[in-house]
Amino acid sequence: MTATATRKYETVIGLEVHLQFDTATKIFCGCANKFGETPNTLTCPVCLGLPGALPVVNAKALEYAIKVGLALNCTINPFVKFDRKNYFYPDCPKAYQISQFDLPICSNGHLMIETADGEPKKILINRAHLEEDAGKLIHDNANNCSLVDYNRTGTPLLEIVTEPDLRSAEEAYNYLQNLKLTLQYLNVSDCDMEKGSLRCDANISIRLIGETKLGTKTELKNMNSFKAVKAGLEHEINRHEAALESGQTIVQETRL
Ligand SMILES: [Zn+2]
Repeated sequence: MTATATRKYETVIGLEVHLQFDTATKIFCGCANKFGETPNTLTCPVCLGLPGALPVVNAKALEYAIKVGLALNCTINPFVKFDRKNYFYPDCPKAYQISQFDLPICSNGHLMIETADGEPKKILINRAHLEEDAGKLIHDNANNCSLVDYNRTGTPLLEIVTEPDLRSAEEAYNYLQNLKLTLQYLNVSDCDMEKGSLRCDANISIRLIGETKLGTKTELKNMNSFKAVKAGLEHEINRHEAALESGQTIVQETRL
């Protein structure tokens, strides 16, 4: 990034973090919530979405969500509901995911971070909602096929969504570090990114300083370390600035 560009543009980043809870059982059934078992051995009619199966919410998952919500200074909403998010994909046997849409369990929180200048900064958290994880696809290139493991289906997930308050890749990195420390302290997850217990997606755009409207964003998905998030964001900031400087239009897209 050039010094001129730094003064001219402002970076706007919002983060979505998916956290797997390490409850003994899954979120809507009694199947064990375990990583690394023989594929498709931890399933039942509920997490496979068979007709007539009745999901029953795991009280521990609710308790863990409330713990995280309180630690993130959120309002814990006394009335919540679950919604069906319809999508058809082999990792989702019901063809919908149970999530929370308009009445999430936690809303309007914040987490403090430190800026590059060492100043404290409040990052607003829009919401944290409970949902179930999908199964896992394993692409077998040797046999030219894809295999699906439903052991992960129904793992309790909390999706923690910030407002677009982060102004640099470094602030995003500091937010993730602080969030992880907080979550580890609460003892609700192993927060192991290698195992996918903690996953991060980022929305990024840039705009001229003084502009209040958000620029066109790109979404970065499936980054498996905080360093990768930081490097990915830095790359995108430079790419956006170069594009705007040369008069190109940013295309809204998801980059992996
Ligand atoms: Zn099950």
